[in-house]
Amino acid sequence: MQKAIYPGSFDPVTFGHLDVIQRASRLCDAIVVAVANNDGKKSLFTIEERIELIQEATSGNEKVVEVTSFDGLLVDFARAQGALAIVRGLRAISDFEFEFQMALMNRKLDPTLETIFLMPTEEYTYLSSRIVKEIARLHGDVSAFVPKAAAAALATKFSA
Ligand code: ADP
Repeated sequence: MQKAIYPGSFDPVTFGHLDVIQRASRLCDAIVVAVANNDGKKSLFTIEERIELIQEATSGNEKVVEVTSFDGLLVDFARAQGALAIVRGLRAISDFEFEFQMALMNRKLDPTLETIFLMPTEEYTYLSSRIVKEIARLHGDVSAFVPKAAAAALATKFSA
């Protein structure tokens, strides 16, 4: 397999995301991590902050060739990048319905683009950026869930 896109909000990047990237690295020659510039979603971190945190966390992984943002349709971005596949993580049955619908819609929009689902190690199946933000907001310890820089950035956001 050649190039794959791993899209998401990454608000912020967690060990669950990094687990998926690690698994994808064994299958792909190159991975582009793409932060969705989605105005519909209220995020805690800016696009630039999210990109920087992902870059720092993946700097040792030579398969991660780019961390960037994208606007518009994912299939258009994937085509422009020359990617063959989209990578998504599946944590639980609850992810399935939404992911299934998106994958089939993306296939309709571009039949040449495949979606690959990867499951994280069991201990990360309960992990989401949303729950990590909730813990950090209440000043809980998130060091088991996110890389050091993300934990520090969360502490700064919620220090007031
Ligand atoms: P989105 O807003 O697109 O769901 P996220 O940044 O939350 O973006 O997630 C991006 C992708 O990573 C999604 O496919 C999501 O299911 C997956 N993902 C998020 N957290 C985990 C985790 N703990 N384990 C495996 N996959 C995950």
